[in-house]
Amino acid sequence: MTDFKKIRADFPILGQKINDQGLVYLDNSATTQKPQQVIDGIVEYYTKMNCNVHRSVHFLSKQASTEFEYTRKIVSEFLNSKKSKQIVFTSGTTESINLVANSYGNNFVEKDDEVLITEMEHHSNIVPWQMLCENKKARLKIIPFDDDGNLNLDELENIISDKTKVLSATYVSNVLGTINPIKKIIEIAHEKDIPVLVDGAQAVQHMPVDVQDLDCDFFVFSGHKIYAETGIGILYAKEKWLNKMPPYKYGGGMISKVSLKGTTFSEIPFKFEAGTSNISAVISLGKAIKYVENIGLEQIQEQERKLTNYALDRLRSIDGITIYGNPAERCGIISFNLDNIHHYDAVLILDKLGIAVRSGKHCAETVMDHFKINGCLRASIAFYNSKEDIDRLIAGLKKVQEMQSQT
Ligand code: PMP
Repeated sequence: MTDFKKIRADFPILGQKINDQGLVYLDNSATTQKPQQVIDGIVEYYTKMNCNVHRSVHFLSKQASTEFEYTRKIVSEFLNSKKSKQIVFTSGTTESINLVANSYGNNFVEKDDEVLITEMEHHSNIVPWQMLCENKKARLKIIPFDDDGNLNLDELENIISDKTKVLSATYVSNVLGTINPIKKIIEIAHEKDIPVLVDGAQAVQHMPVDVQDLDCDFFVFSGHKIYAETGIGILYAKEKWLNKMPPYKYGGGMISKVSLKGTTFSEIPFKFEAGTSNISAVISLGKAIKYVENIGLEQIQEQERKLTNYALDRLRSIDGITIYGNPAERCGIISFNLDNIHHYDAVLILDKLGIAVRSGKHCAETVMDHFKINGCLRASIAFYNSKEDIDRLIAGLKKVQEMQSQT
């Protein structure tokens, strides 16, 4: 049995006091905290091997390049990609989606074509497609969700057409916690030969992902949401797409030959990695994935499921709370409001009690519009949280209600 109490001690920041109280960190969807093993990896990189990669042949450069490419292999095996060269390093989920929307989109989407997304996307999976559609005079079509936070797949079958050129959907909603039936969605799209991009930003840290089993065309995620540094993102793609897609950025490191007459580009994945990468962040992602694999994603999933069920039960026991969505499959992202209390006021009082949750629109204004709200509170769970953290949140919310009833 995994001792999660002991594992929590790997995260030095969680031992801190905030406003004289032990920190309760329930903002894991925004970013995750880093275990000592990842922090040590970053320190080791800068103390022993800092150097640019794929350029010089001296010792440090070779060492950094080897670690850098070893991380590509770690990510490839983590996602069960066929080949390491299908893994492109970007700066984050946002850049990965922009890369596909620009490179694939500019080349394969024409006037009057259609792009499909869902109503529950993060802005990063809306705006790049919106801009593409504006530029190309193509149409953005939306797969709606119901009040429980489940996607309407019948509607997907209705709106998908021969004009659809790409479908881009999140695996897990960053507001409702819904785990979408992404394999089914991919099957429906593939019946019409439509490629699918899966936004895995809220998925990879919570459950095992196998890109070959999903058969997705593109899969993207951010390192900082899976216990690594900020500044590293992943784009996995089927080899045929990476070969057909032109580079998205131009510069050093992505060329084969440059002359004043013209330029030829490197092989994949390097043709998509112009300029100096965030090398320490890349290496930290390798350390973070090894850390997570060492605990086991099934164990993490089970632990988070227990904590989520406990949190939902306790939150539902509060009078005057509205929890948004009740999806068929979910993970530990829970959004809610307290009657007659602004989410921003609530979060400020919780902060005074050492409890970190997020308030606002969560970069998902279409979800706010669906529920006709101007924002909400969001508690998001990681395996290092505890029942005590949830109890502190519940006590904090009751305190918020008490204080607001006095004003
Ligand atoms: N998609 C989803 C579902 C997300 O939750 C996030 C981050 N909140 C993003 C995309 C964007 O990730 P990043 O800011 O790391 O690029």
